[in-house]
Amino acid sequence: MSTTTISRMQDEAKALARERDAVILAHNYQVPEVQDVADYVGDSLGLSREAAATDAEAIVFCGVHFMAETAAILSPDKTVLIPDLDAGCSLAASITADQLREWKAKHPGAVVVSYVNTTAEVKAESDYCCTSGNAKAVIEAIAPEQEILFLPDMFLGIWLERVTGRKLTIWLGECHVHAGIRPEDVERWQADAPDAELLVHPECGCASQCMAFGNERTHILSTEGMINFAKASSKQRFLVATETGIIHRLNKEAPGKRFEAVSERAICKYMKMITLEKLRDSLRDWKHVVTVDAEVAARARGAIDRMVAIS
Ligand code: SF4
Repeated sequence: MSTTTISRMQDEAKALARERDAVILAHNYQVPEVQDVADYVGDSLGLSREAAATDAEAIVFCGVHFMAETAAILSPDKTVLIPDLDAGCSLAASITADQLREWKAKHPGAVVVSYVNTTAEVKAESDYCCTSGNAKAVIEAIAPEQEILFLPDMFLGIWLERVTGRKLTIWLGECHVHAGIRPEDVERWQADAPDAELLVHPECGCASQCMAFGNERTHILSTEGMINFAKASSKQRFLVATETGIIHRLNKEAPGKRFEAVSERAICKYMKMITLEKLRDSLRDWKHVVTVDAEVAARARGAIDRMVAIS
């Protein structure tokens, strides 16, 4: 797409959003031209907070489906739109509510902590929700003798065991994008760029190894944590182990510093289903509305509220 077409479509999207009293929220993994037209860009936790706080009539969620569902749970009186209904998440799809009910039945009395990358129905079966930004605080708030079922991301679960010293019962789910970032990718980069700081998302297949064998230049962070770290750091060069969309935001927020993706293959095809054109059409044609059954939403909200009360 030419820059003229991009800027025309961005103007159209902005005008439609104003006309229809809609706020545009975009995840850090969205394509640059969508990030640039959004009213707010952030990670799951930040976007949830914005969704809950906005005064706008509608929220257009440029992210994946479970995120739009979370916005609908937090803002039941607002219309929530997603520009492409097929924007799913392989991690959220790794456990269904039926599978969780079966797992709970095998572990009576256990507390269920669900990462935010889950469907509304799975959240409704959970005691606590968490994001990568507050998962440690959530686990530490639960009584030490209490069994915890943690789902669905096994790499995040293993990392949490290491940082909290707690034994967790972990669901063996993974995100195909982050699981694909391997220790070899990190080793190759660390050899090539020994002066760089390494920023690693805890969902990565390399996270627990990076932590075990890393050095003072290795930092395991949520995406928002990466942004804050890069802005505050006096260092100039950073290797980034997460979905590559974050590089655009890092370049904008910390101009003049150098950011490189540890793996150029770390691209989420679901996040990239949201295009500027689909965003414009979504606002123009008022599609696709995301709703959550009221009873499921009320139970899911309980898990989210318990998370917010801790972090
Ligand atoms: S990067 Fe992974 S966890 Fe994030 S939306 Fe894509 S598939 Fe889901």
